[in-house]
Amino acid sequence: MIDVYLGLGSNLASPLQQLLRCVDVLRAEQDLQVVAISPFYGSTAIGPGAQPDYVNGAAHIRTALSPTDLLQLLQRVEQSQGRERGPERWLPRTLDLDILLYGNQVIDQPHLHIPHPRMCERNFVLLPLFDLAPDLVLPDGTALRTLAERCSHDGLWRLNTAAQ
Ligand code: ADP
Ligand code: MG
Repeated sequence: MIDVYLGLGSNLASPLQQLLRCVDVLRAEQDLQVVAISPFYGSTAIGPGAQPDYVNGAAHIRTALSPTDLLQLLQRVEQSQGRERGPERWLPRTLDLDILLYGNQVIDQPHLHIPHPRMCERNFVLLPLFDLAPDLVLPDGTALRTLAERCSHDGLWRLNTAAQ
């Protein structure tokens, strides 16, 4: 079993409910085990044009699925919650599930980059992940603590609701 960290995000159709539902769906999956869910955060959307605020979080799971099979499973969950994919990225979405870390592996395939390429610049990824795993070290040896302590809290606020 590999320890995997996921980034969770939503900014459409009751974002908090979308994340709570996705946690339930992940818990019901046979092929993975949910170890812990971070607190949730609100965040100001980045990307083209004005967009609704996001709700973000992170999940620690364990799985024996390959990275590609896990990505497929996550995309199935995104679709089951009404995610529509267009040619453009960073559009509003009901659910975005990203693989942030897959054990200590570095994966560079056309459809899959792990660690997630933009995770180190995004406070809405780093801070929930840091809540979950403050002593985590990235595959290149960088301590998550260093990144989390360095990143700004601009446009990010902690919500009171957490997954049960
Ligand atoms: P983003 O999350 O960057 O806003 P999308 O969710 O629309 O964009 O994903 C676009 C593509 O990113 C997916 O089809 C997937 O193949 C690819 N991708 C690359 N690396 C990852 C990763 N670590 N986790 C999830 N998707 C990834
Ligand atoms: Mg994504």
